[in-house]
Amino acid sequence: MSHPRLWLSAGFAAALYLGFLFTRTEAQPNTVRKIADGVWFREGDIEHAGHCNNAIIEMKDYLIIVDANFPSGARAVLEDAKKVSPKPVKYVFDTHHHGDHLYGNPVWTQMGAVTIAYQGVADELKRYEPARFQATAKSRPDVAELKRDAPEPPQKTFTKSPYVISDETRRVEFRFLGWAHTRGDGFVYLPKEKVLCSGDAAVNGPYNYTADGNIANWPKVMDAALKLDVQYVLPGHGPSGGREILTGQRAFMIELHKAVEGAIKQGKKLDDIVKKDGTKLSTTITLPESVKTWVGDGLAGQVRDAYEEITQHKPHGDIPHQ
Ligand SMILES: [Zn+2]
Ligand SMILES: [Zn+2]
Repeated sequence: MSHPRLWLSAGFAAALYLGFLFTRTEAQPNTVRKIADGVWFREGDIEHAGHCNNAIIEMKDYLIIVDANFPSGARAVLEDAKKVSPKPVKYVFDTHHHGDHLYGNPVWTQMGAVTIAYQGVADELKRYEPARFQATAKSRPDVAELKRDAPEPPQKTFTKSPYVISDETRRVEFRFLGWAHTRGDGFVYLPKEKVLCSGDAAVNGPYNYTADGNIANWPKVMDAALKLDVQYVLPGHGPSGGREILTGQRAFMIELHKAVEGAIKQGKKLDDIVKKDGTKLSTTITLPESVKTWVGDGLAGQVRDAYEEITQHKPHGDIPHQ
């Protein structure tokens, strides 16, 4: 016979557990959370404002901000930074060239901050801009209001990784670990605090954009990140967490690549696995439950990018695209 009471309590416990997990990873846009002494994570509102996440790092005399965000995001971050520290913003690190991470550069430089990025970010801007900036200005007033024809590139770039800024408070390492989301992917690593800001090379949710990426190489970049002594991962989008963000992101890219490669080996063509209904894409490819955090409306586009990457034998970012 069954034990209804036991069932009930087991079900209740499961619900509580799931509820806890859900709460823990639930998105909290426009909130600032302290990660370590002098290190804060600000979750951007991607859904309504297209904003990325930011980190605020307090040094002895000044602040370092991770990612410039869109201009409206930059102003929101600045307001929140003032609430946690009276120190001025001296450096802003662009993790990569995408508008939600870099178009806010002029907001920061106009107030005297210096924008920094890996050299690959400046190179990517030369490849894709000013076309994307001008297209974005048509739909985003905050970008149009900059009255520019092109994005403002980072003022300072580095080629040798890590590029280190340190004082008696802490050591901040700007690192390049390889081509994942873009050729310019920069990480910010705080060895003492075991914090890693990953930009969009690792996101926590269905936010992967693979068009400028290198899907096959992506897991290797995650391996390099996992070699660092990291406890807290602050992703470019989605809630903060621990190393599971890096392992999950790694697994998603492996499963995506594997599933598409399997379909190709079965003789499937792109039209067989990605269907078009007007501008809306859908896919017949499904990925395992284990990576469901990263699976969302973007999957069909990711499948298309993986298909092109595998069949054309080069990173998707090397295949001509908008
Ligand atoms: Zn982003
Ligand atoms: Zn991005």
